[in-house]
Amino acid sequence: QKPVPSDIVISRSCVPKPIDRLATEVGLLSDEVELYGKTKAKVQLDIISRLRAQPDGKYVVVTGITPTPLGEGKSTTTIGLVQALGAHMKLNVFACVRQPSQGPTFGIKGGAAGGGYSQVIPMEEFNLHLTGDIHAITAANNLVAAAIDARLFHEATQTDKALYNRLVPLSGGQRTFSPIQINRLMRLGIEKTDPTTLTEEEITRFARLDMDPDSITWHRVIDTNDRFLRKITIGQSPTEKGHTREAQFSITVASEIMAVLALTSSLKDMRQRLAKMVVATSRSGQPITTEDLGVSGALTVLMRDAIKPNLMQTLEGTPVFVHAGPFANIAHGNSSVLADKIALKLVGPEGFVVTEAGFGADIGMEKFFNIKCRYSGLRPHVVVLVATVRALKMHGGGPTVSDCTNLELLEKGCSNMRKQVENARHFGVPVVVAVNAFKTDTESELDLICTLAKEVGAFDAVRCSHWAEGGAGAVALGQAVQRASEAPSDFKFLYDVELPIADKIRIIAQKIYGADDIELLPDAQHKVELYTKQGFGNLPICMAKTHLSLSHEADKKGVPTGFVLPIRDIRASVGAGFLYPLVGTMPTIPGLPTRPCFYDIDLDPETEQVNGLF
Ligand code: ADP
Repeated sequence: QKPVPSDIVISRSCVPKPIDRLATEVGLLSDEVELYGKTKAKVQLDIISRLRAQPDGKYVVVTGITPTPLGEGKSTTTIGLVQALGAHMKLNVFACVRQPSQGPTFGIKGGAAGGGYSQVIPMEEFNLHLTGDIHAITAANNLVAAAIDARLFHEATQTDKALYNRLVPLSGGQRTFSPIQINRLMRLGIEKTDPTTLTEEEITRFARLDMDPDSITWHRVIDTNDRFLRKITIGQSPTEKGHTREAQFSITVASEIMAVLALTSSLKDMRQRLAKMVVATSRSGQPITTEDLGVSGALTVLMRDAIKPNLMQTLEGTPVFVHAGPFANIAHGNSSVLADKIALKLVGPEGFVVTEAGFGADIGMEKFFNIKCRYSGLRPHVVVLVATVRALKMHGGGPTVSDCTNLELLEKGCSNMRKQVENARHFGVPVVVAVNAFKTDTESELDLICTLAKEVGAFDAVRCSHWAEGGAGAVALGQAVQRASEAPSDFKFLYDVELPIADKIRIIAQKIYGADDIELLPDAQHKVELYTKQGFGNLPICMAKTHLSLSHEADKKGVPTGFVLPIRDIRASVGAGFLYPLVGTMPTIPGLPTRPCFYDIDLDPETEQVNGLF
């Protein structure tokens, strides 16, 4: 086998076709496409209505066994599979993937455009600013944060009447409510449109959000691994008159606005979701929303371009939508509903749309079905479960990376694959196991995984070598996926959203993780009561759990049994539309190591090439 060069060398060795040409090839009209240079374009949402009558293509989700910290190749397999289906099997295809956060690109992990000969190109465009969607989210998120603290300050320093007069200012001798303020009045049950007729009690209720500063759940964000922002004190300038508060930053992709972008179905729906985001609770226990802060319209304006999916291409010239990149623990870790919907129309009934769900099947796939598919109404045809020899040997008790054949360890570790196949089967969709071959793997190891996968209920299991060979190495996988897409499927959700919060969490813990039960710790119990009272009890559940084990303890490999899943706390992303129970502590902003990736990144001033991204 020839050695495989570095990702950036491979990416650069291929000249991408002009993006307007690709857009035409996939059936987009020129006025539906907004070019961002030569290799990226945004696609307008009108296309959904133009293609309304077109039947959807086949919908495939790529997930994985419980991975090693290195990742087992879901992104690489997503890209390899569409290259096989599109460039080799000549079917209409689209890959729909997440936009990576810039933080890890400069930190430890490096880029996330697939790898080897299965990549989205140009990888420097993909991994850096793309078309600015993440920057738009940063701007929108931080506008909310500024609105919260400014409001706290103004409420603390003004009388009710002064506050009201400033919120509803005189203009041409008259006071008028803005549409956002009329919405707030309606929510408060004050059915008045003339600002001069409010009673003193109504003025107070309208003007004072009366946020409890300790209840604020909205954090500032930045797309940089800046660990010193994990806890900060704000308001230290004398101009803030002592209104200091402990606050924190998260990385931008952890913002609820990112999850909203991923789950929204239209501009109108995004406006509604951006209005429903709960940022705090009032002292009397009422949820305070972005609409209460008056900021939701401005958020929609900031997000109006970000809502359009970004068109790029693979190394073999097949189309890719790169859109949204929510965290896979405190959010659902799946790319956007809109990109999938548009792609399914564009490929037509014989075509395939392949999307990826973050982390292993117990997390990303479970959320793909129970959250993303619930909101999108889309029904997947096939699950592709990526497995590797190295991870399965680790599950059998071996070290994270071992390069000597050990069929005994491997067979033992296949228990994790069996459980993840079962997890996919809970949803009634056929599963194809993709064994992502590494050069250290032996024939006997690869064969063993394929044999066992079929024994435990996979529709098929094939080895693939798309990392080393591009789409040609995933043709067998493509054929298996095509056959599976024609097999009968009987899609069902794992739980009914109308069940009590604790029951929904218990169903996921028992059926997917294999827990005996759950334990709600006091903060979680309090939130169950609060959210149920506030009317959020019927949201789907988004578990924030380690991806490195089926249990809550990262070092428990294989299929852990006999454990009770502790739920430390529960948070709500009401605009995005889910509750997220915290199983353990989830850092929401990574740090930089001593020698971060940025040491190697530079621009060649002669060629204007980016060097050092891998
Ligand atoms: P995931 O999406 O599951 O996190 P990725 O597709 O990002 O995993 O792959 C993780 C890393 O492993 C990437 O750097 C990728 O290039 C590399 N990789 C994936 N498959 C192979 C393979 N078969 N051989 C060597 N390296 C691989």
